[in-house]
Amino acid sequence: MQVTPKIKVVRRLRWADPTLSWGFVPTMGYLHAGHLSLVERARADNDRVAVSIYVNPTQFAPTEDLSTYPRNMERDLALLREVGVDLVFTPDNDVMYPPGFQTSVSVNDVSQPLEGASRPTHFAGVTVVVAKLFNIMQPTRAYFGQKDAQQVIVLQRMVRDLNFNLDLVVCPTGREPDGLAMSSRNVHLSPEQRSAATVLSRCLREAVVMLHAGERDGNALRALMRDTIVAEPLATIDYVSVADPETLQEVEQVTDRALLSLAVFFGRIRLIDNMLWLTPTN
Ligand code: AMP
Repeated sequence: MQVTPKIKVVRRLRWADPTLSWGFVPTMGYLHAGHLSLVERARADNDRVAVSIYVNPTQFAPTEDLSTYPRNMERDLALLREVGVDLVFTPDNDVMYPPGFQTSVSVNDVSQPLEGASRPTHFAGVTVVVAKLFNIMQPTRAYFGQKDAQQVIVLQRMVRDLNFNLDLVVCPTGREPDGLAMSSRNVHLSPEQRSAATVLSRCLREAVVMLHAGERDGNALRALMRDTIVAEPLATIDYVSVADPETLQEVEQVTDRALLSLAVFFGRIRLIDNMLWLTPTN
C-alpha cells in the first residue's frame, strides 16, 4: 500500500497502467466499518483501490467542529492495509488550497435545503474538494455512502453537470447493532448520549412503518418523527424532513418515494441519518 501526500505521486501510480480500473473512496478519516464497506465494494468492482484521508476545512463553518474532528492516521492506515488498499492520498491543506486559491464549485438548488439550510457553506466546500479529488485521482468509479444522502444528490448533479468521466456508486448506510448509523463523530458521544442517539434510526423506522401502513401525509410523518425525538430529553432537533429524493423539497403527500431525513443535536454533537422509502414493487 502506497501512502502519499503528493499529487504527482498519485498521478504516476494511477496512470502506471491505464488499462486498470480504479475505485476511489474519499474520506475524512477516523475510519469505521461504514467507510470500510465502501472500500470493500470498491475492491470488488475494480482492479485497484485508492482512498483519500483529508479533513477538508472548507466544508466546516467557523462555528463547527473542525478542530475537534477525530483523527488517527496510524489506525486508519492499519485498517486500510488490512482491507487491501493500493493507494492512500493524505494531502495537507497547502497541497489542496495553495496560496492564491480562489476557485469555487457550487451546485445550486439541491444544496439549499436540509443540510444546506443549517450549514449554508457546507456543500460548496464538499463540491470544491471532491471536484479536486476527482481531477487528481481520475478514478473509474467513486464510492459514497447513503448515510450522507444529500451529499450524494449534490455530487451526482455535479458529476453530470461538469461531465466528470466516472461512475458514482452509492453504498448502503452501515449501522451499529442497535441501529445507530456509524459516524466518526459518534466517538464524542457520552455513554448517555450514545444510548439516546438510537432515537434517530428508531424514529426513521417508525416513519417507514407508517408509510407501509398507508400514511402518505407529509405533515403527519414529520410530526410522528418529531414526537419521537422530543420524547428523548438529550436530543434537540435541528430538522426533520420528508422530501422528494430528487429535488429535496418537502412533500405534502408522499407518492411513490420519499427521503426521510433528520439532523439532531446531542449537546454540541450533531448527528444526521436518513432512510429512503420506495413503494414496494411486490
Ligand atoms: P466522511 O469520512 O464522514 O466524510 O465519510 C466518507 C464517506 O463514507 C462518505 O461517502 C460517507 O457518506 C461514507 N460514510 C460515512 N458513514 C457511513 C456509514 N455509516 N455507512 C456508509 N457510508 C458511510
